Amino acid sequence: MSEDVLKKVISHAKEYGFIFQSSEIYDGLSATYDYGQNGIALKNNIKEYWWKSMVQLHENIVGIDAAIFMHPTTWKASGHVDAFNDPLIDNKDSKKRYRADVLVEDYCAKIETKIDKEVEKAAKRFGDSFDKEMFLKTNPRVLEYQKEIETALSRLAKSLTDNDLEDVKKLIEELGIADPISGSRNWTDVRQFNLMFGTKLGSTADTATDLYLRPETAQGIFVNFLNVQRTGRMKIPFGIAQIGKAFRNEIVARQFIFRMREFEQMELQFFVAPNTEMEFYEKWKQTRLQWHLNLGMGEENYRFHDHEKLAHYANAAADIEFNFPFGFKELEGIHSRTDFDLKQHQEFSGKKLQYFDSERNESYIPYVVETSIGLDRMFLALLSKGLKEEQLPDGTERTVLKITPALAPVKAAILPLIKKDGLPEIAEKIFDDLKLDFLVEYDEKDSIGKRYRRHDAIGTPFCITIDHDTLADDSVTIRERDSMEQKRVKITEIHSIMSKEVSMTSLLKNLL
Ligand code: ATP
Repeated sequence: MSEDVLKKVISHAKEYGFIFQSSEIYDGLSATYDYGQNGIALKNNIKEYWWKSMVQLHENIVGIDAAIFMHPTTWKASGHVDAFNDPLIDNKDSKKRYRADVLVEDYCAKIETKIDKEVEKAAKRFGDSFDKEMFLKTNPRVLEYQKEIETALSRLAKSLTDNDLEDVKKLIEELGIADPISGSRNWTDVRQFNLMFGTKLGSTADTATDLYLRPETAQGIFVNFLNVQRTGRMKIPFGIAQIGKAFRNEIVARQFIFRMREFEQMELQFFVAPNTEMEFYEKWKQTRLQWHLNLGMGEENYRFHDHEKLAHYANAAADIEFNFPFGFKELEGIHSRTDFDLKQHQEFSGKKLQYFDSERNESYIPYVVETSIGLDRMFLALLSKGLKEEQLPDGTERTVLKITPALAPVKAAILPLIKKDGLPEIAEKIFDDLKLDFLVEYDEKDSIGKRYRRHDAIGTPFCITIDHDTLADDSVTIRERDSMEQKRVKITEIHSIMSKEVSMTSLLKNLL
């Protein structure tokens, strides 16, 4: 069923110019995608929402745009050369490759579905008197399932932290995990695989320098920490935000744009005084959750997942997970990165990366709280939750993309009812009036019903129809996407209605 939803999202994304496979005429390149005409508009709107919520709404956050190429020592200092690995395992029969940790996590997710089923059954049996929390705490079968999950995940966390790959394999065997495709349990040993893409800088082979494509945008912020702090006269606590491409040679890149080899991140590094990081970590967890909830996709579709296994740089970490068509998965990470990165860069570069705190009257290396969200995953969240198939009262069906109007690719469609009698001229005038402030589309082809459907499918919040009455009363019909209600309004009112309903300002206001 959920696979069906994902399939629909993928074909809809292609049919309506959101996402194409990269180099499709050459049969594509795996896990690489291109954004089409509507895709880029939606993507830019997500970026604007994120960027303004960070940089414009916080006086102590500024933005930068660092290069993708960085000095190769950056990645030694950050730990990526030595530790940016995924444990991989191959199935000897199917020859398919998997991430060993993901196999265990998927196994646990299946047990969690069993728990959900028990809850569902009990809710039916007990009716109104059902107490879910109590049930989860006391039902023996549920408790057993929970224990199974906990045991598996904590053992995985321990063996990965100890780099005990033999034990990871043993765990997979003991849990009886089979290849999801072939059902075979014939596994190779687990090996570590570095995820960074290498490339070369320089014209001749012997003088060329080995470079990496950045696997995260964060390091571009860290190496510029002092540049920004000094030139911007920033006082701690303050943040640096960045949106940019990152590259990872993912072992298994599946699930459409959820896991790509080239993707975009929106990251904030927030610099704080030592020993204050936990307070800011908690604060950013809440701030980021509010940013998501403001999009109206339903509180029940988000949850925090606190990490058991912490990355080498972190002293606390949580994911905001979203209910994708294939279940709850990481959408955003919030990490307390300690002073690890700046300390490492100070050591490897030999340059002091310290901040003088005039209130404390001391110099220190700041601590960092990071929020890091994948732009493409956010895109997938919006597309997969927003896409609805609806039965209409007249027996027909429509496919509609219900996303918050401020993020919709096209804000309004301007539709002359027919192509003559002066209607196109009025429509063009309305189009010219709106285009300075909003991305609008003029569309005169096909019946009005077909044009409505086309715009429902790309999530256009308003369709503005110009008909013969317009000639007499200077009014148009505005149809709202979700309710399909139609209202007659004066041409002179259109701009202010749009400003109220579809502007980024109205979305941002709720965050204050
Ligand atoms: P995962 O566990 O899913 O591999 P991660 O924990 O490695 O993700 P981070 O390093 O925390 O991810 O990166 C921050 C964010 O960047 C993630 O929350 C995700 O939204 C996004 N991201 C990471 N890898 C990819 C990818 N291959 N494709 C698309 N987005 C990604």
